[in-house]
Amino acid sequence: LVSRDRHPEDTIVTVGDTEIGKKPIMIAGPCSVESEEQVSIVAKSLVEQGVKLIRGGAFKPRTSPYDFQGLGIEGLKILRKVADNYGLKVVSEIVNPADIEIAPEYVDVIQIGARNMQNFELLKAAGQVNTPILLKRGLAATIEEFLFAAEYIVSRGNTQVILVERGIRTYEKWTRNTLDILAVPIIKQESHLPVIVDISHSAGRKDVAIPIAKAALAAGADGIMVEVHPDPPVALSDANQQLDLNEFNSLMTALKKANFF
Ligand code: PEP
Ligand code: MN
Repeated sequence: LVSRDRHPEDTIVTVGDTEIGKKPIMIAGPCSVESEEQVSIVAKSLVEQGVKLIRGGAFKPRTSPYDFQGLGIEGLKILRKVADNYGLKVVSEIVNPADIEIAPEYVDVIQIGARNMQNFELLKAAGQVNTPILLKRGLAATIEEFLFAAEYIVSRGNTQVILVERGIRTYEKWTRNTLDILAVPIIKQESHLPVIVDISHSAGRKDVAIPIAKAALAAGADGIMVEVHPDPPVALSDANQQLDLNEFNSLMTALKKANFF
């Protein structure tokens, strides 16, 4: 069902007045929701740049059980409130199949993270709601496995799926993951689903944000996902890769100047 052979036209995923799969879009926001003030500061910057979709994690899949695990439902409530104040739409990760049904109360797009790309019960649950799903590629998933994961969702009836290339594990140590730029044109060829590139979790650093965002869009990506925090050094997660507000403005300016937005 996700293959282009079966469905030659591009799937357009509609979120509010944003059509993902037509012209490139930006999804930006903090790694984790930490407070209403933190999310509001970022939201204000997004609105100033014309960005319509805010991201932020409330349920955080952390490598160490001792690291900040996210604010849970409280975090989703903060996101919803701030997004409504600023006229934004919310993208946030859900990790528990039991939460998929209640998620649409707070979020406009349900994110399924890399670590859950093959959590088949979560994928099946995601297939049963009407809310768009943003599915991230697994840490060591092939493109075929990624597309089969999307197939789990679409085959249960939810056709509104956005794929996110976020880098895969390789032996390279100077980046957190290796951005598989080839996945973009290959998936666009094989599938009709929109493809977005996460320039934060792929790189794990922010000094290369502008060139990788340009490369992703030049390769045909339908958008970019990036982490933005008011004060990255004190962030409760992913401090090294989150852009501050000035860096985010520079990224947007560079992409507008290159006519991507
Ligand atoms: C995220 O986007 O918040 C995240 C945890 O990313 P990933 O699942 O790609 O590691
Ligand atoms: Mn993160």
